[in-house]
Parts: sequence; structure tokens; C-alpha cells
Amino acid sequence: MRLRLHRFPLTKAVPLAISRGTTTAVEHLLVELEHEGWIGRGETGGFDTGHRAFSTDAIAAELEQLAPQLEGLEPQPLQALEPLLAALSPPAHCGLDLALHDWWGQRLGQPLHRLWGLDPGACVATSVTLGLGEPSAVLARLERWRLQLPSTRIKLKLGSPDGLDHDRALVQAVGAALRPGDELQIDANGGWTLEGARQMIPWLADQAVVLVEQPLPPQHNPEADTAGFAALKGLAPVPLVADESCWDLGDLLRLAPHVEGINIKLVKCGGLSEGLLMARTARRLGLGVMLGCYSDGGLLNSAAAQLLPLVRWPDLDSHLNLVNDPFAGPQRHGDVLQPAARPGLGVQQLQEVG
Ligand SMILES: [Mg+2]
Repeated sequence: MRLRLHRFPLTKAVPLAISRGTTTAVEHLLVELEHEGWIGRGETGGFDTGHRAFSTDAIAAELEQLAPQLEGLEPQPLQALEPLLAALSPPAHCGLDLALHDWWGQRLGQPLHRLWGLDPGACVATSVTLGLGEPSAVLARLERWRLQLPSTRIKLKLGSPDGLDHDRALVQAVGAALRPGDELQIDANGGWTLEGARQMIPWLADQAVVLVEQPLPPQHNPEADTAGFAALKGLAPVPLVADESCWDLGDLLRLAPHVEGINIKLVKCGGLSEGLLMARTARRLGLGVMLGCYSDGGLLNSAAAQLLPLVRWPDLDSHLNLVNDPFAGPQRHGDVLQPAARPGLGVQQLQEVG
């Protein structure tokens, strides 16, 4: 198979501020694998969780180094390629894993979710994200989302550098703007101290918040990281969801006794192979699955959408906030996203890349 890489920019319509900083634009990679007339496509790109960071340049270098070894190999069976792919970073693995899955689905003429036996009728509404900012700006962002889609599930970013009072003001402002049936989720992006989280989580439960994601900063030391969640478990009747602390199946099993849910992102876990394993395992263990994104484009979110029937808290809104995405995102009915019925990842390319 032949590997080709193309770089493309993704620019946000509205910049997104979280506890670690503000993102306006990113550069991502289109990964193409051609074999026997079919072209499988994947998307990946750099990201930073505060304790681990990957650049798009470094990911491209990893994949370029692998290209000559792929020349003499076939895209299937995937198991035969696992040893070659094992040394890749999660985002480099993701780009290749998506392209291999896309090739496989196209070769068989079936969308992945159908090959996995998943029910697109089981998909539920995605959340839309409100970044940090002054309350008036955050409310304006909510109004803008509501012009675009129903926005019944709202994810508010907290962990403001301006402190807990600013966080509380944001929750009160957004809470007052909710309509009957709307749901408010909180993502602190690791922006609180243990003491701050102990104050905030019971208060947020009183504000009818439905979940709190990643209260504490992720730790390199797994025991210390687990201990942070364990210290907050049971503090209030609101589900805790691990994101920056939960990368792969090992993290999921480590954190399972101390959280009610995990946030799977394809570039963080390494693609659909690990993502499917994590989603199925989390459900078997009684955990809720969130499926999230970074500044990902329509190709990555179309790939992630193949897992949506397994997801309780879809959070795939990044492609809905881009001005120059070369790919269409997943099918959307109101605020419910669904995997496409087209073969493979079901990706629709809107313009040439590179
Ligand atoms: Mg998160």
C-alpha cells in the first residue's frame, strides 16, 4: 500500500478558550492509504493535554518514516500490521488506523458501524461547547450555537484562571439561560486544585449539573492520578468523567472504580481499534461513554461517529465551528449526529487538500 500525507489548516469560526489557553486555528494531516484502487483516508493532528503534547510536525515525521515499510504490505488483516504500528504515538497511530479502517470498509462496501453490528438508531444528541470568557460573551456564544442547532446539551468549560468565583458566575449565567429539558455539563479541563474541586463539585450538583469532567490536572504518575479521582468519588451525586487522565484501555481499567464515565477521543487513544475496545469495555463495566474531540475536522468526527451508537454523552461539535474544513462532518438531524451509511468511515470530501 502507498501512504500519502497532506497538511491542511482548520480555522475556528469562534476561538475556543479553556483552562490551558485559547485555540483559533490548527494544522491537521490527511493520511491517505492507496491499495488495489481503493483509497482509505484518515485525519490526525497535534494536541496538548497539559501533561502530554504532540505536534503535527512530529506526527508527520513518524508517519513519513513508516511509509517505505508500508510499500510491500497490504491493509488487511489489520492484526498483521499491529507490531509495526505499536511504536507510533497515539495521534500518528490514529491517522493510520483510521485510513486502514476506511480502506477496509470501502473494500467490503459497508460502513464500519454496520460491520461492528451497531445500531445508528441508538445515537443521542451531541453537546455543544461554551469556552471560558466573560459571562456576556459566553451567553452570546450560546445564542450563536442555538442559531445553528437545537443545542439541548451544553458543555461549559470551567477552571478559569480568574478563579472559582468566575467559574460560579459562568454557571449561574448559563444556568439562567437554560430552557426546559436542556442539560448542563461541566468540563474543568484539570483547572482546579483538590481543595477547589471539593468546593465546586457539591455546589455544581446543587445547580443541577449532569456531569463534571476532569476536575484535577492529569498526573504522569498513574497512582497519583488515580488518587485524585478517588479523593473526589462520592462527594456529590454527580457523575465524574475522566478525560485528560484517560488515554487508553489501561487508564480506563485503572480509573473505572473511581469515575462514572470516560471521554474517548480518537487522536488520544490511537484510533478506532482502541476506541471501540474502550467503548465496549466501559459499557460492560457500567461506565458512561463520552466521545469527544479536540480541534478536529469533519473527517475525524465522521470516523468517531461510527462509535456513536455506544455513546451516552456525544461531544463531537468541533467540526461545527470551522470555516475551512475540507470534509463534511457526520450526518446530523437536529442535534443528533449519526454515522454515515456510506462505506468505510463514510467521509465526504468537499474540496481538494494539499
Ligand atoms: Mg474534556
